[in-house]
Amino acid sequence: MNSPPIFAALRTRLKYLGTKRYCAVCETSSRAFLEFGVVARADARCPHCGALERHRLLILFLREKTDLFDGKPKRFLHVAPEKAFIPIFSKAIGEGYLTADLLDDSVMEKMDVTDIGYPDETFDVIYCSHVLEHVADDRKAMAEFRRVLKNDGWAILNVPMGKNPTVEDPAVTDPVERLRRFGQKDHVRVYGPDYVDRLVEAGFSVERFNPRDLLDEPELERHGLPTGRGGEVFLCTKK
Ligand SMILES: [Zn+2]
Repeated sequence: MNSPPIFAALRTRLKYLGTKRYCAVCETSSRAFLEFGVVARADARCPHCGALERHRLLILFLREKTDLFDGKPKRFLHVAPEKAFIPIFSKAIGEGYLTADLLDDSVMEKMDVTDIGYPDETFDVIYCSHVLEHVADDRKAMAEFRRVLKNDGWAILNVPMGKNPTVEDPAVTDPVERLRRFGQKDHVRVYGPDYVDRLVEAGFSVERFNPRDLLDEPELERHGLPTGRGGEVFLCTKK
C-alpha cells in the first residue's frame, strides 16, 4: 500500500540526507542525485523536486545574471512551463506571470508560439526551453518572441543542441522516423551550432552561458553540473 505523500517525501528526505549535492531549484542538499535519461546518466535528477541539470543551470543563471528576482513589476511569459519552476516564478513575479502552452491544459493560456496573441513589446521576460525543436516553423516562433518582447527585455530560448549542423526535414512525420532522425518522436529537427544563426536572423543578439561561466570546479560538482552537463543558456535581447 502506498503511504501518504508527506511520508513518502519524508522517506526520500531521510534516504538522501547529506550535503554532497545541492539543488538550486528546491534549495535542498542531498547525498546524491538520481540516475536519469533514455541513455541513463548517473547523478542527474534531484531526488526532492525532480530538477535536471538544465533546470539547475537555469535557476543559477537567472539568480546570478538577470534582474528576474529584483522585485520590480514585470510581465513574464513562460512557455511550456516546467512544474518545479512555476511556484518560484509565481512568487517572484506575481500577477505579471503568464504560463502558456499549445497542448497542456493546466497552463494559464493556450498559445501557439508562431502566432502569439499579444501586441508588440508586451513582455519584459520570455522563457521558452526545449520547445522550438517541436515547432515546424521555428523561425516564425523566434520572430514572434522578438515582436512581443519589450525593447529592453530579454528572452531565454533554450534548445537541445548537437555538434553537427541542424538536421530537419518537414516531410518526416512518422514518429518512429522522427525518433531515428531527430532523437525524439515529437521533434521536427535536431539543432546544431547554427541554431544561434537563426536567432540572429530573427533579430536577436545572443549571449551564451554554460555552467563554467557561473561556477568553479568544486561548485560544478556540488550542483551536479560537471563538464558539459546542463547544456547552455541562450540569452536573447533586441539590442
Ligand atoms: Zn531539487
